[in-house]
Amino acid sequence: MKKSYFTVLSLIFGLILISCNKQEKVAENAEIQDTMQSVEKVEILTPEDAIAELKAGNRRFLSEKMINTNYSENIEETKSGQKPHSIILSCMDSRVPPEIIFDQGIGNIFAVRNAGNIEDENILGSLEYAVDHAGSKLIVVMGHSHCGAVTGAVHDVKMGNLTQLLAQIKPAIKSDLNNPDVINETVKNSVIMTIEDILSKSAIISELVHEKKIAIVGAYYDIETGEVQFME
Ligand SMILES: [Zn+2]
Repeated sequence: MKKSYFTVLSLIFGLILISCNKQEKVAENAEIQDTMQSVEKVEILTPEDAIAELKAGNRRFLSEKMINTNYSENIEETKSGQKPHSIILSCMDSRVPPEIIFDQGIGNIFAVRNAGNIEDENILGSLEYAVDHAGSKLIVVMGHSHCGAVTGAVHDVKMGNLTQLLAQIKPAIKSDLNNPDVINETVKNSVIMTIEDILSKSAIISELVHEKKIAIVGAYYDIETGEVQFME
């Protein structure tokens, strides 16, 4: 009697174990399928496609499901030419690497960087090359939280050639140091002003934007979370 009781018990435990294993396998398979689907690279033909890919790339970065990290494969794919879909004008801050935070690896984006993500003639020339010659569909001007350049401008720092750079950010300061959000507010104002400057100083870019062949958008990167917000 006792023996058969134990047999039934071990049978039940056995069944529970099989069922758990089965559930684990299903979850594992779903994960593999999810990864395989995300590996399929999308063709980027429009500015909207480019924004969607950058948003998806930032989500992949945040969830640690990056797909563009096989650099030897990237090198092989791009050795005979490049066709970057977007240009990211961003700050030189070491915590804001566009290729990583948008999961774009090698060959998918132009990263144009300086302190405070501002424009000048050299930047305009680089952007014009990207959209008019290389066929990029999107320009993103991206500011970020805790930006040292913007903080320097707000605190009126003077230092060598940096002084004239910070002077270019100063028109974006709309409130004083009493406002605890003055830095982030200035970062966002500066992004908007940089976009306006690019459009007013570059006939090539403004025409392409007008014809809807390319788009220019602002973005804000939070260095505390890794999340990019597009200012559309
Ligand atoms: Zn910065």
